[in-house]
Amino acid sequence: MRVLPPPAEGFPATVETLIVGAGAGGMVAALAAAQAGDEVVVVERDAVPSGSTALSAGLIPAAGTRFQAAHGIADDAATFAADIQRKAKGENEPTLVETMASTAAEAIEWLADRFGLAFSLVHDFDYPGHGRRRMHGLPTRSGRELIDALRVACEGAGVPILCEARADTLYADADGRVQGVGLVRPDGSEERIGCGRLILASNGYGGNAARVARHMPEIVGALWFGHSGNDGTALAWGEALGAEIRHLGAYQGHGNVAHPHGILITWAVIGEGGFQVDRTGRRFWNEAQGYSEAARAVLARPGGEAFAIFDARIAGIARQFADFREAEAQGAVRSADTLDALAGALGLPTDAFAETCAAVDTAKAGRADDPFGRAFAGATPLAPPFCGVRVTGALFHTQGGLAVDADARVRRAAGGTFPNLHAVGGAACGVSGSGDSGYLSGNGLLAAVTLGFRAGRAVQAARDASG
Ligand SMILES: Cc1cc2nc3c(=O)[nH]c(=O)nc-3n(C[C@H](O)[C@H](O)[C@H](O)COP(=O)(O)OP(=O)(O)OC[C@H]3O[C@@H](n4cnc5c(N)ncnc54)[C@H](O)[C@@H]3O)c2cc1C
Repeated sequence: MRVLPPPAEGFPATVETLIVGAGAGGMVAALAAAQAGDEVVVVERDAVPSGSTALSAGLIPAAGTRFQAAHGIADDAATFAADIQRKAKGENEPTLVETMASTAAEAIEWLADRFGLAFSLVHDFDYPGHGRRRMHGLPTRSGRELIDALRVACEGAGVPILCEARADTLYADADGRVQGVGLVRPDGSEERIGCGRLILASNGYGGNAARVARHMPEIVGALWFGHSGNDGTALAWGEALGAEIRHLGAYQGHGNVAHPHGILITWAVIGEGGFQVDRTGRRFWNEAQGYSEAARAVLARPGGEAFAIFDARIAGIARQFADFREAEAQGAVRSADTLDALAGALGLPTDAFAETCAAVDTAKAGRADDPFGRAFAGATPLAPPFCGVRVTGALFHTQGGLAVDADARVRRAAGGTFPNLHAVGGAACGVSGSGDSGYLSGNGLLAAVTLGFRAGRAVQAARDASG
């Protein structure tokens, strides 16, 4: 990963918009740029587009969509933006938050109407920190379906995706104008492609162990659950060019990954009235804070593990997620008719576990405050059959990166923006504050889809401005 001056011999071919990375951010940007009339090429290191997008649940938050209206949910960008800022304790740049919050509905409806992505609203449970139900997903609630649908849309729009082409070198003038990139093929051969503008959509640096140790030492040792291509390419280029870099300690963790199966267990099992205990059979924190900070909470317990406890009613809600169904198929979800039997199946001390469950029921009935401060009152008590999963904490993706403006143009550390360089998705600094607790559910794909949409369309804005 290096930045060099443009080669004297130039580039054998040049495209108007070149995009590095065929994840959600890159492909949404490609579709938007192509629709705006640009000639677009996407380069992708893998043989088939996948990225962290394919590993995700594919859920994208948006406010004021017709999918929400169909469920009678009134929502707007200002409410959404306030939720994002509240979770991040106001650490985000307000303009970027407002941009994402006000773009998401348009982008989702555009993907649905123009490219046939069959979004629907997750309407049957709440995500922590969201004041409205606003997570939108495809039927299987899996990122694999999302990435495949975007790839099919790119194919339909005539956008070439050059696979097995890892961008390794960025060629830029001394003033920071990007001229092209150098690609490395699996056989070691090298190619160059020139561009009118470059959109970095190669995600973050969570798969780069040295970066994780440097920027977020508290999560070193956690399972890395993202895509191996998250090696910090965009960040390294941005640093070399003199870009403004923000919040490198920000990341999304997850404290509910089935262990040792390595399958995401949706936080719905907790949000709907479930809870977590450690090996002693006791709870250890207020789970309602969110699943990102749950990673550190769980990793700090004996053995770096915990147990998610819920029941068959909640499992029925969780089953809309392909991951949960896979966890059940692999035997990660244990089920029993009594709490004692569940404790036995999970290897937990029965007396302590029974006391924990009784205390939660008391709090749900409003007869006592929860010692950890969770607002349990009114929640439905667990009922047989009971369920439990052994879980651990994982690092999902980073949230810091290149600072961008409302059209995802990369900012210079010295002020202003680069003339033809954009960063979207995990390549850009997101809206999750400076640590792990600022991540509001869906912030990852929100940055990919909204910044991709805006960066792609920015070419149209530039044309309009020049008359
Ligand atoms: C298990 C899991 C669950 C998640 N669930 C959700 C969720 O439900 N909702 C949500 O909002 N977020 C979720 N996230 C986060 C979300 O997946 C990411 O924030 C989002 O996918 C980022 O999209 P992206 O396009 O920036 O990156 P990616 O999808 O990772 O795409 C980047 C692409 O760039 C390619 N690439 C990298 N370097 C190069 C290079 N040098 N040359 C060429 N190609 C390169 C990669 O191979 C990859 O295909 C989850 C993450 C994980 C790990």
